[in-house]
Amino acid sequence: MVTHGDSRSGPASAEGGVRERVDVLVVGGGNAGFSAAHAAARRGRRVLLIEKGRAEESGGNSYYTAGAFRIAHGGPSDLDGLVEHDERMARTELPAYSPAGFHADMKRVTGGRNDPELTAALVDDGRAALDWLRGLGLRFRLMYERQSYTDASGRHVFWGNLAVGSVGGGKGLIEQHEQAARAGGVEVRYGCRATGLMVDEGRVCGVRWVGADGQAGRIGAESVVLAAGGFEADADLRREHLGPGWERAYVRGTPLNTGDMLRAALEAGARPGGDWSTCHSVAWDTGAPPGGGDRERTNTLTRQSYPLGIVVNTEGRRFLDEGADFRNYTYAKYGAEILRQPGGRAFQVFDAELRPMLRTEEYDAPGTTEITAPTLEELARRMGVPEDAFTATVRAFNSAIDRTRPFEPAVKDGRAARVDPPKSNWAHPLETPPFYAYPVACGITFTFGGLAADDRGRVLGADGAPMPGLFVCGEMLGGLFSGNYPGGTGLTSGTVFGRRAGAIA
Ligand SMILES: Cc1cc2nc3c(=O)[nH]c(=O)nc-3n(C[C@H](O)[C@H](O)[C@H](O)COP(=O)(O)OP(=O)(O)OC[C@H]3O[C@@H](n4cnc5c(N)ncnc54)[C@H](O)[C@@H]3O)c2cc1C
Repeated sequence: MVTHGDSRSGPASAEGGVRERVDVLVVGGGNAGFSAAHAAARRGRRVLLIEKGRAEESGGNSYYTAGAFRIAHGGPSDLDGLVEHDERMARTELPAYSPAGFHADMKRVTGGRNDPELTAALVDDGRAALDWLRGLGLRFRLMYERQSYTDASGRHVFWGNLAVGSVGGGKGLIEQHEQAARAGGVEVRYGCRATGLMVDEGRVCGVRWVGADGQAGRIGAESVVLAAGGFEADADLRREHLGPGWERAYVRGTPLNTGDMLRAALEAGARPGGDWSTCHSVAWDTGAPPGGGDRERTNTLTRQSYPLGIVVNTEGRRFLDEGADFRNYTYAKYGAEILRQPGGRAFQVFDAELRPMLRTEEYDAPGTTEITAPTLEELARRMGVPEDAFTATVRAFNSAIDRTRPFEPAVKDGRAARVDPPKSNWAHPLETPPFYAYPVACGITFTFGGLAADDRGRVLGADGAPMPGLFVCGEMLGGLFSGNYPGGTGLTSGTVFGRRAGAIA
């Protein structure tokens, strides 16, 4: 077990006694846990953050992210004080994103199953929460490479209401959180897994833990903030809650989010919250390691430029509307669609005209699984899909495109292919060799089910009242998402609710 920081609390005793006490104990060292820890520490509370991963495995899913944060904003001038200067700003078109727009997106993508109180906190507090992180030394930027296209006049046009990201992506985010924690006097202890909650006369008063070295103990705390992620990395829990087949999903992020604290909190009387039967999952390189993310390549194993091309299954047939909406509003539900296909596999297909428009960090990264061929027939053979079915799919698609409309990737251009299923926007004929196929599987990101809580992050018990001493934030908070998710909302949620929990813990 490795400790960084000010060890004002005494050494942990063996399981059985409590010789160590803190004011606020945070479980989980991802974006949500660090946000809670900063907020509590800056109020003068004695804060200990325990993290299951050893230092070299730490940062949770947050480490693997692209660092994208969805916030409402008033356009470039409004974002000036938050993001770092970029010389491209003078040639940038970045539409404002109103709180009403954010609310509408949450409602639309979740089919209205988002909790209204939690959503209001997320939307109304998101910008202020990022300004607060900025004040603690975290750095933000505009994500040109992920969220903008360059138009014919050389202007950078942002699309999909997602513009702000952390400097250095998820890796930078975690590094900057760790620096801020050190500066704020938060003690961070790695290789320390919480195994259960201590409860005394109805009040949560600490946790039991076990170290990577087998040492075990208890830590007493006035408040416990749970920020220990979902159950996405536990194949049995996936199968149980998400359904058969989900045990085969690739884990995109940390292998350590195995639902430990969800189980512990439910056992202690917490009420489950949100939708336990759905999750965030995406198109993921089939060459990726299945049981957990790659700490080097992190988010680059995702394949997110599918709205420009077509997606076929191993029978050579399309099965979803690649252009139903901007990628930010469809990607998190399309992983599940891939899982449902034969063998849980699919291929994203593009031609030479589209290829330069694909996200460089994802499609040009070393190790990307890529198949190319000079003809569609040869591509089918190399993909291992039936040649006739595949070429018939592409020809039917090409001939159904409304070519009277211009192809404009930064707006919903309405350039549809009226086939079954339709492609509603950005339909571009696959005619120019060479052709490219990217094999993808379903990569699970995080689970949507969690604990029920109020909008200050207080965990609710079975009677619907807050459980004294217990708070929750991040992936462990249930109720915001169901079935789908607007890109960049997980990190914002972690900071908003982490900060709120840390402000009262
Ligand atoms: C590849 C990838 C890319 C993503 N990109 C984005 C993005 O750009 N923008 C966005 O908003 N979201 C993104 N997400 C989703 C985002 O990662 C999550 O919404 C967010 O990071 C969750 O933060 P968290 O702090 O709740 O959880 P995590 O960051 O997962 O932190 C939870 C921590 O708890 C620890 N833990 C678990 N059990 C225990 C225990 N028993 N005791 C102690 N510690 C424990 C884990 O080790 C982990 O470090 C992405 C996710 C992945 C995997």
